[in-house]
Amino acid sequence: MKYTDTRDKSVSVNFRTAVLNGMNAQTGGLYIPKSFPKLDPDFLNKVPEASFRDVAFKMAKPYAEGEIPDSDLESIIQDCYPFTAQVIPVDSVSYILELFHGPTCAFKDFGARFMARTMSYFNRGENDNLHILVATSGDTGSAVGSAFHNVEGIDVTILYPDGKISPLQEKQLSTFDGNVRALKVNGTFDDCQKLVKTAFTDVDLRKKFRLSSANSINISRLLPQAFYYMYSSLVVRNRIPGDSKIENPAIIMTVPSGNFGNLTSVLIAREMGAPITGFIAATNSNHTIPDWIATGKYEARPSVATLSNAMDVGAPSNYERIAAMYSLDEVKNLFASYWTDDKGTLEGIKNCCEKTGYIIDPHGAVAWMAWNEIRNGGMEKLLKGEKNDYTKPGLTPNVPFWAESVVNKKAVNIILETAHPAKFGATVEKAINREPSMPDRLEKVLSLPDRAIPMEKDYDSFKEWLVSNL
Ligand SMILES: *Cc1c(COP(=O)(O)O)cnc(C)c1O
Repeated sequence: MKYTDTRDKSVSVNFRTAVLNGMNAQTGGLYIPKSFPKLDPDFLNKVPEASFRDVAFKMAKPYAEGEIPDSDLESIIQDCYPFTAQVIPVDSVSYILELFHGPTCAFKDFGARFMARTMSYFNRGENDNLHILVATSGDTGSAVGSAFHNVEGIDVTILYPDGKISPLQEKQLSTFDGNVRALKVNGTFDDCQKLVKTAFTDVDLRKKFRLSSANSINISRLLPQAFYYMYSSLVVRNRIPGDSKIENPAIIMTVPSGNFGNLTSVLIAREMGAPITGFIAATNSNHTIPDWIATGKYEARPSVATLSNAMDVGAPSNYERIAAMYSLDEVKNLFASYWTDDKGTLEGIKNCCEKTGYIIDPHGAVAWMAWNEIRNGGMEKLLKGEKNDYTKPGLTPNVPFWAESVVNKKAVNIILETAHPAKFGATVEKAINREPSMPDRLEKVLSLPDRAIPMEKDYDSFKEWLVSNL
């Protein structure tokens, strides 16, 4: 597969280049595959559906063709996914897709583990280790640290702002040993990011070390997220005859979104033939994308802090990929879009628990609210021509092509549960007066020794540390 970029269609690079570079430094653009090959209908139509790992292999294959032989790709997939995505029905037309069964209990494990293993694969044969630097304000760092832990040929240094992340998040970042270490920086997240950016532009340092980033714009994090969309849509399609008995229903995916990487991945899955009809993009008070859909104007802005903090992004980087793949009219036709505030998020946790008994985390709760708004009259109003005020919580006024199917009760929904509720125990307790139970792997991390290294926020101290420790 050849990859082009969002800013210059004449760019054409292979998978290795796209993975190791992350973005195109010449244009500032993000890499996207030149095509999204459809999977074979015989494979898609199988009953029962293929396993998650078989789906993953089939989907990854065209993107690595000619660069990673099948047997190696198969080993990478096996090593990435000792866990899977789970589909939980909560009422006759709603399913929750649990994406938190990986080591750090968030969906980012799916992408980060594949990225780590493909980077390591492409780094074989080099004499030096590749050094990954990441600044994190929370979840990304732990998924990346865990994904690269004990992966050959790669070292990881994570920078986080001391005292500004949750105690559980800090434990998840600071307890690695071996090839992954954490620096607790005496400063803010922006200071951490500045240190990393300065290191990347330091010619002297780059002569000494091979540096790379591992952020969410890397195409090798987005492709594997398409695996669980494909897999879950096949599972649900095959379950429908026993659950709701609706004939040929529309399958709608509700995606709680921040940087919109996860939403870009569902577009890829649909292009590859997943039986997915449309999407709901659900955000918190950081509603840059809903506003773009409502007004046609994209205006990035500073982020605001919310209860679903992994979605606190005011300038979503994958907007650029979505806009490169589809026109605004196509987006309005495919997507419903919705946003809610903290009050709505707490209401979502409470409502989901009361209606179904399922304890959902604050990110999933935003998606739950969006689906409820749509199925309980929100879409009907839009179809009748009522125009919502997009500056208030709720749906944006566009009417996607699948709107009638929801109104006529011919649609089912899959809600993405992107993190385990125990990671946000205090918020969940506030909503339902009960704390979710802690999975063993989170409990375990709480008892590990803290190994974070204190670091000042000036670049000279950081560089000195890198030079003497890498
Ligand atoms: C990162 C994250 C999101 C947002 O995903 P994007 O791909 O950035 O839109 C949602 N929920 C959780 C728990 C996350 O960690």
